[in-house]
Amino acid sequence: ALTDASPDTTDALRVLHRVFGYGSFRGEQQEIIEQVVAGGDALVLMPTGGGKSLCYQIPALVRDGTGVVISPLIALMQDQVDALTALGVRAGFLNSTQDPYERQAVEQAFLADELDLLYLAPERLRTEGTQRLLDRGKVSLFAIDEAHCVAQWGHDFRPDYLALSMLHERWPKVPRIALTATATEATHAEIATRLGLTDARHFVASFDRPNIQYRIVPKNNPLKQLLELIRTEHDGDAGVVYCLSRSSVEKTAAFLVEQGIDAVPYHAGMDAAARAANQSRFLREDGVVVVATIAFGMGIDKPDVRFVAHLDLPKSVEGYYQETGRAGRDGEPATAWLAYGLQDVVQQRKLIDGSEGDETHRRSLAAHLDAMLALCETVDCRRVRLLAYFGQSAEPCGNCDTCLTPAESWDGTVAAQKLLSTVWRLARERRQKFGAGQIIDILQGKKTAKAIQFDHDQLSVFGVGADLSTAEWRGVVRQLLALGLLAVEGDYGTLVLTDGSGEVLGGRRQVSMRKETAPARSARKESGS
Ligand code: ADP
Ligand code: ZN
Repeated sequence: ALTDASPDTTDALRVLHRVFGYGSFRGEQQEIIEQVVAGGDALVLMPTGGGKSLCYQIPALVRDGTGVVISPLIALMQDQVDALTALGVRAGFLNSTQDPYERQAVEQAFLADELDLLYLAPERLRTEGTQRLLDRGKVSLFAIDEAHCVAQWGHDFRPDYLALSMLHERWPKVPRIALTATATEATHAEIATRLGLTDARHFVASFDRPNIQYRIVPKNNPLKQLLELIRTEHDGDAGVVYCLSRSSVEKTAAFLVEQGIDAVPYHAGMDAAARAANQSRFLREDGVVVVATIAFGMGIDKPDVRFVAHLDLPKSVEGYYQETGRAGRDGEPATAWLAYGLQDVVQQRKLIDGSEGDETHRRSLAAHLDAMLALCETVDCRRVRLLAYFGQSAEPCGNCDTCLTPAESWDGTVAAQKLLSTVWRLARERRQKFGAGQIIDILQGKKTAKAIQFDHDQLSVFGVGADLSTAEWRGVVRQLLALGLLAVEGDYGTLVLTDGSGEVLGGRRQVSMRKETAPARSARKESGS
């Protein structure tokens, strides 16, 4: 590669200065690079933006031969190769987007030992042709990027990754480095097992992003709440707003533009040119807000994103962490803001019930959602909970909403019993099922047309919950759903009991709840929905 001196730390440092123009290594980069340069295997867990790329790019430059990088992000390969080429690194890629001539040129360069780095899509490696190609050239290392894709029940599972265990069998002398930004201890262990990284050194970076302020607020009027966040704290800042559906992306972007904010939509349903144009405006100009589905962002590296806002609940803590992690990569203060409400729980549970795959898969999705819900409902420091999810411990941070305005908890057992027994009575005595709105009206003793139509004012539970506001009752429903002590069913979001409900009704289980912090005004606003 670049130098013919013996591969050691000075080489690595020289490459860092000369090729990449950086003064010093970050975090554990140096140790990781030394391990791989010396021919050892490594498993690297480092948060997004932590600087994983250098951990294999530098060893590839220091060691003889070509570093082969396996990455599922085909769309980004061209960009990565262009960026490296601009630095004077000899890089190429092989994937399905190329014509045979382009492919051949890259293969020739590899065989002539004229490449420092070769990016490969995982499915390429399965072909005998590619394997023979690698045999004929000189591979300096294998880097397995986004290694969590090998975890079978993870949210990014790629079957092609399972075949990567073959790397070690076929090329036992070539060092391997697996890298990921998403790893709970379980995923971590699964990566090591599935890739056969038995002798690998593990490098686990802290997942803490101290400059990001985490906030999770009750959702009542999300567009208005978002606008207020932008206007009061992030006027003119670059930001990303995540929505679950393409239609809400369009709607939200249009709303922000109407309000004079420089916002652009981004989702997989848009035509490729418009999407690319929006992405490039976001990357190159100052203060652009991208409203996007989660399709946006994998591999996006913009240092000065000042806020990431979620208008819908992420499906997992991994997803939340990765998406919020796009904020504040420059280390300056940034905000991760999520608006979360009852409807999110209903919607996500419905998505899981209707999802493809077997029962095990659904159970795994539900477990991921439960962890996310627990993070939303916690009265503890968000950061402590977030890091605990990744198996790391921390002290309360002083830079999250629960640290800044301590959330109170209250004993919601009696309220839960009132609510659950209303659901139970309606089902048992009337063979009726209703959504949260009607159940809450009954508890509060509201003589609405619907109450009269269904004789609900005759129920013994009618009005037993007049002591709590609508927002508070919605909080009770949301938290019971989050805890699995209540469930939703069907297209109308009707409430039904679960096995756990009986324990609460029978007084065998206490329910501690997070106090609602919504102002009274939003409580009134919600009562119609
Ligand atoms: P990851 O792949 O972990 O998300 P990247 O490898 O893309 O992170 O690095 C994130 C950013 O940090 C990039 O802009 C990269 O150039 C920069 N970076 C990485 N290592 C260093 C370093 N030692 N000094 C300065 N900047 C660095
Ligand atoms: Zn905190």
